[in-house]
Amino acid sequence: MELEIVFVLVGTTHTGNVGAAARAMKTMGYSQLRLVDACSNRTDEAIARASGANDVLLSAEKFDTIESAVADCQAVIGTSARPRNQSVPMLSSRDLPATLATLQQTAYSTNQTVKVALVFGRERSGLNNHELDRCTHLVQIPVNPEFSSLNLGSAVQVLAYECSTGIHAIRSTTDVTKATAIADSAAMERLFAHIESVCSKTGFLDPENPKHLLRRFRHYFERNRPDETEMNVFRGLLSSVESAISSKPE
Ligand code: SAH
Repeated sequence: MELEIVFVLVGTTHTGNVGAAARAMKTMGYSQLRLVDACSNRTDEAIARASGANDVLLSAEKFDTIESAVADCQAVIGTSARPRNQSVPMLSSRDLPATLATLQQTAYSTNQTVKVALVFGRERSGLNNHELDRCTHLVQIPVNPEFSSLNLGSAVQVLAYECSTGIHAIRSTTDVTKATAIADSAAMERLFAHIESVCSKTGFLDPENPKHLLRRFRHYFERNRPDETEMNVFRGLLSSVESAISSKPE
């Protein structure tokens, strides 16, 4: 099966940038644009900057939250102009083709369509920590460290180009080992909710500082998402802890 790349713009404030992103995507053969809490994609400026990529621009899907925008994605690649203090790997954009090749291999071996989200942040402040925590990878275009922030449309162009070179270089292989599908973001959110619920019931979660522990779990699992079988094992373990607690005499 195939790899599908979706482009997610979060909190974009300049409508011209949405048009420029659509144009950049279309030049590299991509069409799936998702907007999270972003400005309009239907202004004259957006249409002018899309420069003919109106189909991509006007078919953009709108979401209120990052969670809903990436719910069906197996890999979520956040983009950042500066190094961020996160525990998921920070890649150079030059590493993107190899990362996509690995994901495409997974798509073939699991016979699953693997959806990859490339997530772009706000013009002024980029992605916030909540959004970065939902990423499986981070990518930075190597630029002048003294002046590292590209215009949003330019960043979309560079990364769309890297994606397309990677994907064109990949060929299907037949000698693949059997594997099971990797979890999408919606399944990951259910896992994190289950972990939180069990940790609260056992008292493992520090009520004074619950976020710290949960972020640790999140970072750990996002670095290497479980496949379906592994997910069933983790969820089964959590359920068994829950039933052991509920059957314990007071
Ligand atoms: N002041 C912001 C820059 C935002 S630029 C900050 O420091 O984070 C708007 C968006 O363009 C970023 O969120 C990112 O998605 C993308 N971008 C800009 N420069 C980039 C770079 N060098 N590498 C990767 N993405 C970049």
